Amino acid sequence: MKVKSYLMGQWLTGAGEGVPVQDAATLEVLAHVTSEGLPLKEAVAWGREVGGKALLGMGFQERGRRLRALAQYLSERKEELYRLYATTGGTRRDAWYDVDGGIGVLFTYSSLARTLPEGNLLPEEENLPLSKDFSFQGRHLLGPKGGITVQINAFNFPVWGLLEKFAPAFLAGVPTLAKAATPTAHVAEEVVRLMLESGLLPEGSLQFVAGSLGDALEALDHRDSVYFTGSKATADRLRRHPAFLERGALFNAETDSLNAAILGEKAGEEEVERLAREIAQELSIKTGQRCTAIRRVLVPQGRLEVLLEATRKHLEGLKLGDPREEGVDLGPLASLGQKEEVERAVEALLAAGARVYWQHPGRRDGAFFPPTLLLAEDPWAETLHQVEPFGPVATFFPYRDREEALRLARLGGGMLAATLATPDPEESRFYLLGLSGEVGRLHILNRFNAHSSTGHGSPLPRLLHGGPGRAGSGEELGGLLSVKRHLARLALQADPHTLQALTGEYARGAEKPASIHPFRKYYEELEIGETLWTHRRTVTEADIALFAHLSWDHFYAHTDEIAAQKSLFGKRVAHGYFVLSAAAGLFVDPAPGPVLANYGLEGLRFTEPVGIGDTLQARLTVKAKRPRDEKSGVVEWAVEVVNQEGKTVAAYTILTLVARKPTDALPSGQTHFGASS
Ligand code: NDP
Repeated sequence: MKVKSYLMGQWLTGAGEGVPVQDAATLEVLAHVTSEGLPLKEAVAWGREVGGKALLGMGFQERGRRLRALAQYLSERKEELYRLYATTGGTRRDAWYDVDGGIGVLFTYSSLARTLPEGNLLPEEENLPLSKDFSFQGRHLLGPKGGITVQINAFNFPVWGLLEKFAPAFLAGVPTLAKAATPTAHVAEEVVRLMLESGLLPEGSLQFVAGSLGDALEALDHRDSVYFTGSKATADRLRRHPAFLERGALFNAETDSLNAAILGEKAGEEEVERLAREIAQELSIKTGQRCTAIRRVLVPQGRLEVLLEATRKHLEGLKLGDPREEGVDLGPLASLGQKEEVERAVEALLAAGARVYWQHPGRRDGAFFPPTLLLAEDPWAETLHQVEPFGPVATFFPYRDREEALRLARLGGGMLAATLATPDPEESRFYLLGLSGEVGRLHILNRFNAHSSTGHGSPLPRLLHGGPGRAGSGEELGGLLSVKRHLARLALQADPHTLQALTGEYARGAEKPASIHPFRKYYEELEIGETLWTHRRTVTEADIALFAHLSWDHFYAHTDEIAAQKSLFGKRVAHGYFVLSAAAGLFVDPAPGPVLANYGLEGLRFTEPVGIGDTLQARLTVKAKRPRDEKSGVVEWAVEVVNQEGKTVAAYTILTLVARKPTDALPSGQTHFGASS
């Protein structure tokens, strides 16, 4: 049986015998992997054309909804993935990280999509006035690159690895060509099959290759990207390809790194115990085959033995075996090849001055490799900071003081993740400043978060997961940051009407007077830039005195004439919150209507004092709109309160929920999300 590839709308089988894939525990040959003779270069152009067009036909919101539906579809079918997963040596707990973790990534991106606009353009920052009368303005925005992303996945997370790269690309509107790592391509094939069967992905948005990429990179240019996870050696080879050096495609790598855990000098017993548990967990989850796993442990000299012993205690009770057997905590490595690599790496570490402190007495046959704790006799031996055993192995290094610990940590040449166990913020600051250029994610573990920390090695879909130097100098995951990485940033310079039409956000100078009060309109009926100028109101002494009593805010600037005269304003002024309330009184239309709730206020600034006798007027403008669900959408309103001289005294944005038009009021065959079919 051969693992199939899905290219140009069809499942295809490569020629030749291919590379055998074995069950990690029983070594039974399960399938062969080959992409020989497949039209990979053509698939790149096809995906760009067919998939790109289909994805951009949807917009961020629709793509976000599809990611949620896809997550639900996969959740209902994960048993099949769990079953296959065991053939890679993974236990149920490991499968949970891979399968459920991957589905969780889809849910996360679908939630993030709610913060994005409707179409395919993502404005950044604020409009920048480039002329005094606002007729010429600038805005940074992100738009489609028109390319494809080739995603090269590592063997250790066939499901999560594929989904964590696919989700941000899909949300950004970029078609994917995913390449599975050979040893676990059969699991990736199954998840791709389910994804396609869901019917949620437009044709061309996901293609899949099991086996070599062939000539695919030849077709890449400045519109395209490659997201790679795997070894530093492969990354270094790939990044020299003319696709990147000459034709300007983006290359993003996340590679193996020698991540450190540091027991701080200020750590107490709780931190020692919690770090020991963490290290043991890092060696046992996925049998230590995680790019973020702890490889080096830096310990104050006097506490080395204590931490080693505490770690050993957590590991010695674990059972190694076939993950399909009851009670097994730790499976084999993913393949015989991986075991050979781990053995070679451990030999190199031993030759460079490490010694085995303790090794689990469990299975060593087949692809099994037992958890192993090494102790660095010479902590400065460079090899110990360069060679990574990609398995259940960690090396402990003693340090004399924190300067020494920092220098040792830096010998890794760049890390994906590091953990510092300390309750002391000063010690944390020392390492944060010293390691900020060395690590992608710094996890501080202590008695205060021991119960809630998600752990050293778990990447979180909303936080960056890249690292500098040895770790690939790339970025992965990172919530909206990774969506943005798939888009092209440009500076748009235009008049306010064009700017407003293109960004979908109000631009000053492009207001149009509201014909009826905007609070009487449904979500669909509100137009960006629609503006209401209210009637006026003069502030009296009674207003200030009554507001002080009502709110119990008797601050001297509002209530004490003598102190107020000596204050910044030289007179009594109205409360800022009074100005807000008075503005609401001016712009609110009180009768029941489509505005359902006021749920927040952003960017409030009081820019001028309001004194007794000043006259206020408010301007309410539809600033931006975001659909929420079938029933309502979010409307942002720009509010500006001015005085009798036309000076702005307060400016802010309010957020309201506004009802959508009842569906029976829409043209037949339409839903709020397009045609009902
Ligand atoms: P590799 O770097 O060999 O492979 C990673 C991916 O790159 C696989 O999909 C592989 O495909 C592909 N690949 C290999 N050569 C090329 C090429 N010339 N052009 C395009 N794609 C290519 O890593 P492995 O998965 O074999 O793991 C080896 C080591 O990498 C581990 O021992 C570990 O040290 C590190 N690693 C790091 C990870 C991380 O997340 N940072 C994760 C996993 C491993 P194929 O399998 O078909 O060769």
